[in-house]
This record gives sequence, C-alpha cells and structure tokens, in this order.
Amino acid sequence: MKSSEIRQKFLTFFESHGHAIVPSSPLVPGNDPTLLFTNAGMVQFKDVFLGKETRPYIRATSAQRCVRAGGKHNDLENVGYTARHHTFFEMLGNFSFGDYFKRNAILFAWEFLTTTLCIPKDKLWVTVYAEDNEAADIWLNEVGIPPVRFVRIATADNFWQMGDTGPCGPCSEIFYDHGPEVAGGPPGSENSDGDRFIEIWNLVFMQYDRDGEGALHPLPKPSVDTGMGLERIAAVMQGVHSNYEIDLFQSLIRAAANVTGTSDLANNSLKVISDHIRACSFLIADGVIPGNEGRGYVLRRIIRRAIRHGYRLEQKQPFFYFLVNDLVGCMGQAYPELLTAKAHVEMVLKQEEERFAETLENGMQILEAELTREKKQLAGEVVFRLYDTFGFPVDLTADIARERGIGIDQAGFEAAMTQQRERARASGKFNMQSGIRYHGVATQFHGYDSLQQEAVIQAVYKQD
Ligand code: ATP
Ligand code: MG
Ligand code: MG
Ligand code: MG
Repeated sequence: MKSSEIRQKFLTFFESHGHAIVPSSPLVPGNDPTLLFTNAGMVQFKDVFLGKETRPYIRATSAQRCVRAGGKHNDLENVGYTARHHTFFEMLGNFSFGDYFKRNAILFAWEFLTTTLCIPKDKLWVTVYAEDNEAADIWLNEVGIPPVRFVRIATADNFWQMGDTGPCGPCSEIFYDHGPEVAGGPPGSENSDGDRFIEIWNLVFMQYDRDGEGALHPLPKPSVDTGMGLERIAAVMQGVHSNYEIDLFQSLIRAAANVTGTSDLANNSLKVISDHIRACSFLIADGVIPGNEGRGYVLRRIIRRAIRHGYRLEQKQPFFYFLVNDLVGCMGQAYPELLTAKAHVEMVLKQEEERFAETLENGMQILEAELTREKKQLAGEVVFRLYDTFGFPVDLTADIARERGIGIDQAGFEAAMTQQRERARASGKFNMQSGIRYHGVATQFHGYDSLQQEAVIQAVYKQD
C-alpha cells in the first residue's frame, strides 16, 4: 500500500466517523510566535482546545506536515542514525474537541489499524500512563490486548502537556514490533530506544487543566488529540523496517543517487539528503529563508548538513536544489503549495549552496586535519573558527566529528564566542545604544555580531 493511499484511507476512515477533514496548516505556526515550527497535528487547533476559538466541527482529522529540527522537539541529531526519525514528516491525526473521549479514541485507532489496514494484532504493543486505569480497562477488557503486550509507563513519555500550565493529560501509545532481527527492547524496558519496537501512534487524552501551583483540575469537556507518523505506518504496511525503505523515500533516494552519481543506494548520506530536501523545501515553501537566527538559522543548518553530505559524495557543485523537482513529483499532488513554490524553493536552495561552497572546502580541509590529529575531542577554538570564518554551524561540526567517534568542546566553543564578543565591543564596532546593529557584509557569510551570536546560541542550545 502506497504512502499516499494510507494518507487517504486514514482521512476517509475518520471522515466516515463524523470528522471534518482539515487541510494541513503551514510549518510556521500562525497562532504561536513562541513555537519554532509546527511539530504536531494539534498545533493548528491549540486555541480550539483552549476554548478560545470555536470551529464549525467538534471532530476533525488531518495529515499535518511537521518539522522537528529545533525547539522542544528536535530530531535533527537522529536523522541518519535511527530508522524512524525525520526532520520533516507527516502526522496523521484525529481530534475531538470536547466530544468523544478515551473509549472512542482507542476503539477508532484499533479498528483502523487492525480492520482497515489489517495489521496483525500480535505485532502491536500498547502503553498507557501508569495511573490511567480508565484507559487500561478499555484496552485490556474491551479491546482484549493480552497483558504481555501491555505496559504501564510512569514517565513523562506518557503524560502530555501543552505548557507548564494549561491542558494536559495521560497518553496511550501503540507500538509495532519489527521482529527480533532488529535491536531494541519493548516499551518501558531499559533498551526501548532501539528500532525494534517502533512507536506508531500516540493518543493524547486532554483531561486536566494545570494551574500555576501545579494542581490538576478536571477539564469540563475533555478532548482527544492523536498523532501517527505516516512514514512509520507506511513502513509497517510495506513490510520494511526502516522509514527510508518506503516508496516515497526510495524515489527520493534514487533521485539523490542519480544527481550525485552514487551507485550504492544504501549509502547513509543519501538518506540524510532525502530527509533534508523535504524539510528544506517545505520550510522555504512556507516562507522561511536561510538566515543567521531563529527559524532561518535552523533552515540554514539543515541545508548545510545536506550540502556537506553531498560533499561526502564528492559533490563540489550545487546539486541539492535539483532534487526539488523530484520531491514535487512525489508530494506535489498532496501539497499543491509545494508545486506553486517550486521555482522559489529552487532559487533559494541554489543560492545557499553557492554561498556555502565558497567556504565549505577550506573548512573541511581544516576539520579533516584536526580530526586526524585529535583523538577524543575537537578544541573549542577550532569549532569556533569553523563557525565564524567558514560558516559551519556547531551542530554540523559536531556531527562530522561524531562520525569519527570524536566529541566537541562545547564550553571551549562558548568561551571563544564570548571572547570574540568582547573584542568586538572593545573595538567599538558595537552600537551600544541600539544594541542590535549588524556589521557583517550582507551578501557573504562573515560570522555574526555579538547579539546575533547570542541569538544563535539560544537557537542552537537553549531551546533544545
Ligand atoms: P519517538 O519516541 O519515536 O521519538 P515521539 O514520542 O517523540 O516519538 P510523538 O510526539 O508522540 O512522537 O508524535 C506522534 C507520532 O508522530 C509518533 O508516534 C510517531 O509516529 C510520529 N513521529 C514523531 N517524531 C517523528 C519523527 N521525527 N519522524 C517521523 N515520525 C515521527
Ligand atoms: Mg521523539
Ligand atoms: Mg515516544
Ligand atoms: Mg510519543
């Protein structure tokens, strides 16, 4: 079953159960300036859950484009390392705004997985929040999940909250067992972080309102928010273990292999490139442009990672932007906004590739030399020089070092950054009155001034 068919089946299933099909909202949230990117299906419904907004429906379903590459949810470090994480993915969701609650949410999910998709029941595991006897009772006694594949989890993994205060509640998650040939333990066990038991669907039961003192008060109208990763469920349905083996990714991987002249389709860099072309294209289509802070800097970090993986495949010329065409071929039908923005996306990517090409090769030579010399940890000074002079985001340097089993001196990097800031201040370049003057050359990458550096550090570290 193709990914596009699964997406459609999901929406149709919930539509037939009285849900309005709501289109995906953009990746830049319109209703929440504190959130870097839309990272779940519920984001566009936040004010509906909070009771601040009403809609003409009380049940909704969507296939929401999501990015988890910064802020509270950051899976950038996982891409290229796990079988299940992307920076960009699609979240299928169904939502109840004060209408049905746990029982229907669970029964719908189970019916969709085992009847519509015909997934064998004995491959599915279920978790609930440890104290949620109500959900446990439905799973064990109504659905009939055998206790051996049922786990109560007491950690925050199974308790969702929108923020420090406000709506929150227990979750119940459904996992698929990809079999003993893959490493990893069942949910709740010590080595549950492997890729054998893969979480496919999270059902969140918004049940309480947390006040300023931390006390929980029952919500008058409890609600439901669920999310299932399309790529993960597609892997299950297509009988493959890794998300990168599904139809959609295979086309992108073949395109990336083609463009880079790579014959080994299993090359890890192809996976990273095919993940990143989705995130970068959709972010640009939704209005983000590469820059030195905030969202723009996250985008720049992802693009530069992709370019570096191209470099690893011996690409010295721009190659990444060619893949936009292939991506539009795979996803343009489901996301017409991508089709509309195609020429713009290509232009922005090409420019960023040309810009980074000016410093990438020299930076890589310095880094290679240091990585050959250093056996344990890359000096903060080196990380800073690569960052400041060669436009290497810290996480890019860290990722390249990690491939050799070498860490980076984070504190040393920060110290070098502080020194630079003080030098800039002492040399009087810094405008103390406005405090935010930028003295770099606009068209070329020349590092950041002091306050921008702070913003960058915040973007890179504090939000994670
Ligand atoms: P994981 O524990 O595997 O990192 P999660 O608990 O962070 O997942 P949720 O926040 O519960 O994920 O999101 C709901 C669903 O979205 C998950 O069950 C999964 O199917 C999917 N999902 C989450 N993160 C990713 C990702 N980075 N790439 C692809 N799918 C994802
Ligand atoms: Mg996660
Ligand atoms: Mg999880
Ligand atoms: Mg989860």
